[in-house]
Amino acid sequence: MIAAAGSGERLGAGGPKAFVELAGRPLLDWSLEAFRAASTIAEIVVAAPPGQEGSVAERGVVAVAGGEHRSESVANAVELCGEEIVVVHDAARPLVTAALIDAVVGQLASDEEAAGTIAAAPVTDTIKQAGHGRQVERTLDRAGLWAVQTPQAFRADALREALSDPDSLPEATDDAMLVERRGGRVLIYQAPAENLKVTTPLDLRVAELVLSERA
Ligand code: C5P
Repeated sequence: MIAAAGSGERLGAGGPKAFVELAGRPLLDWSLEAFRAASTIAEIVVAAPPGQEGSVAERGVVAVAGGEHRSESVANAVELCGEEIVVVHDAARPLVTAALIDAVVGQLASDEEAAGTIAAAPVTDTIKQAGHGRQVERTLDRAGLWAVQTPQAFRADALREALSDPDSLPEATDDAMLVERRGGRVLIYQAPAENLKVTTPLDLRVAELVLSERA
């Protein structure tokens, strides 16, 4: 499933981020191309900005209205997914590749004890936690820190259970944290940092550069 229902306020594009153009195509279409090319993907469900389900369905996928918060959008779409493994992906990560999707699914499929596998890159900055007045409280040990991305693959039953408590959805910044909270074993698949998230206009420029190099 692809979460594409965000408003994209931080990008300042005046409309949903999933439809912002990147190298001549809407952001969403780059992810769709990768999912269509992935050998592990049987069906695609997109959580669309409410009211835009029609234009998303025209792309030949199942479209459902997203919710107010990201995990609510994911929950709406997962309801319509019929497979045993569900891959959750943000339309905001247009540089995802079919190889990365298949690798994440493959790692999950090869470990029966795992509830999920998530794409992530080692953190390269030093990370500090600060309190009031931006006073540093502590420096985290970078060695064990990962910057988490999507795609994230889950066993569908574990994901549905994790998404079943509506009160926990608004504060979830990814779906794996909801699975982890219920004791689910989540594995990391080391992904390239290049699989960046488009949040600001700078990210769009970097993504265009990466795409032009791929071409
Ligand atoms: O806002 P943010 O960049 O964190 O959103 C991550 C992804 O979640 C985006 O692809 C966005 O379209 C999606 N989203 C959603 N429903 C929401 C909020 C965000 O599908 N209510």
